[in-house]
Amino acid sequence: MAAKDVIIEKNYIDGQWVGGDGERLAAINPVSEQAIGHCIEASAEDVDAAVRAANNAFAPWSALSGKQRADYMRKMTAAIRGHLDDLVEMQMANCGKPRGEAKADIIGSIECIDYFADRAEELDARRQTPVDYDIPGYRSNTRLEPMGPVGFILPWNFPMKICAWKLGPALAAGCTVVIKPSEVTPFTDTFWGKAAEEAGLPPGVINVVNGRGAITGAALSEHPGLRKISFTGSTRTGKFIMKAAAEDVKNIGLELGGKSPILVFQDADLDLAARLATEGVFYNAGQCCNATCRLLVHESVEEPLAQKIIALSEAVVLGAPDSPGMTMGPLASKAQYDKVTGYQDIAREEGLTCRTGGDRAPGFDSGYFVQPSLYTNVPNASRLWNEEIFGPVLCLRTFTNEEEAITEANDTEYGLAASIVTEDDARAERVAARLEAGHIYTNVSVAIPPETSWGGFKQSGIGRELGPWGLAGFLEVKTVTSRG
Ligand code: NAD
Repeated sequence: MAAKDVIIEKNYIDGQWVGGDGERLAAINPVSEQAIGHCIEASAEDVDAAVRAANNAFAPWSALSGKQRADYMRKMTAAIRGHLDDLVEMQMANCGKPRGEAKADIIGSIECIDYFADRAEELDARRQTPVDYDIPGYRSNTRLEPMGPVGFILPWNFPMKICAWKLGPALAAGCTVVIKPSEVTPFTDTFWGKAAEEAGLPPGVINVVNGRGAITGAALSEHPGLRKISFTGSTRTGKFIMKAAAEDVKNIGLELGGKSPILVFQDADLDLAARLATEGVFYNAGQCCNATCRLLVHESVEEPLAQKIIALSEAVVLGAPDSPGMTMGPLASKAQYDKVTGYQDIAREEGLTCRTGGDRAPGFDSGYFVQPSLYTNVPNASRLWNEEIFGPVLCLRTFTNEEEAITEANDTEYGLAASIVTEDDARAERVAARLEAGHIYTNVSVAIPPETSWGGFKQSGIGRELGPWGLAGFLEVKTVTSRG
C-alpha cells in the first residue's frame, strides 16, 4: 500500500487507459522537489476522442433511472473507500498536506458523491411537474433533463474533492463527463477513471484527459461537443473559459478566486476570533479560495487580537506531512512558492508592518515552505490587501463602526465568502445580510457541507455548486404545454 499505487500515467478515454505520445509532464513532491510520477498530456485529438465518447455514452446513461445511476455512484465511492489509504498518501505526497487535511479531502469526496447519489434517486419523482395556472384549454408540465456531455477543468488545491462537487451532480442529473485535472496534481483526479472502471460504469460516462491549460484545457473549453464547462480556478483563467465558451454559447459554471474578509467586532470572543482567523488562512497552507485573508477588526480590540494571532502563528509547526508535530506543510508547487514569496517582497517594498513571519521558512534543505505571516495597518491600496495571494498571509485593518466594516469588507472585486465574529446575534444577522459573498460564516470555521451552496458574487464566479443548486447546474428545464 503506497501512494505510488495511485499513479496512473495514462488518460482514460471511452473505458480504455490510453498512453498516446503526448508530452510527459512531471508531478512534483513539494517537500523533496522531486518528480513522483508523470501524466501524459492529451492532445486536441485525444480531447476530441474523449468528447465523442462522452457523446456516445450520453443517451444510454441519461436513459437510466436515477436509482440506477445512484447505484453506480455508490459503487464508485466503495471503490474509493477501498483505496482510501493510497489516495490519502498521494494527496500528502503531491500537495504536501498534513495527513488530517489529506484524509478530509478524500472523505469529503466520498460524502459528496453519496449525497448526490441520494439526489439522483429523488430526481425520478421530480422529473416531471405540473405547472399551476389557470388558462382555459391549456395545461403545462415542466421536465428536468440532463444538459448533455460536460467538461470539468480543475485546480490543484483540493484535487479529487473539487471534482466530486461537479461529478456528483453531473452524474446524478444524467450527464456524461470529460475531466481535466490540474497538471500540478494529476493523480487523485485521474483516479476517478479507476473508480469508474471498478464500479463498472459504461465506457464514456467518465473520461479523464490530463495536460496543461493552454493545450488540453483550451481544447476542452473550445470543443463544440460539450454543453457546459464547469471550471474551478483563478479568475484570470475563468475569463479565458468564458470567452472560449461564448463561441458556441456553452453553459459555464465558474468557481473563481477570493479575497474573503473576516470581521471581528468589539464584543467578539477574541480567543475564538484569533482561532477562526488563523485556521481560516492557514488551512492547506492558505491555498483556499475562501481563506480568511482580510482581517477587519474594531480598533478597540486590535492589539489584543493581534497578540493572540501572533501566538497562534508562531505555534504553527512547518514540516513534511507526517513529520513529528507538523501542523502546516509546504506550498503545493514552485510556481505558488514564487507567487507567495513575491508578495512577501512586495510587502517589504510597500513598507508594510510585519508582526510575524514575512519570509521564506528557514531550516529546510528543500521544499516550498513559507512562514505564516501577519501584516497590520495595511493600507487599503496595498496589493496585499487587494490581490489573491493564496498562501498563509493574513492582512489586518481596523474599523471604527459597523457601517465602515461592511463598506471595507465589500470593497473588493471578489465575493466568495466572509466571516463575522461577534457575540451580538442581531448584529451578526444585520451584517450577514449586507455582505456581498456567497457563503457567510458567523462564529464558526469555514466548513462546506455538500448540502449548502458554494459559489461567488462578483468576480468570484458564476453559478452555485453543491446542494440542490449544484444539481440544477446540470439540468435543463423544458416545459411541455398541451391542450387540456
Ligand atoms: P488556474 O486558473 O491556474 O488553473 C485551473 C485549471 O485551469 C487548471 O486545470 C489549468 O490547467 C487550467 N487552465 C489554465 N489555463 C487555461 C486555459 N487558457 N484554458 C483552459 N484551461 C486552462 O488555477 P489554479 O492555480 O489551479 O487554482 C487556484 C485558483 O483556483 C485560485 O484563484 C483559487 O481561488 C481558485 N479556486 C476557487 C475555488 C472556488 O470554489 N471558488 C476553489 C478552489 C480554487
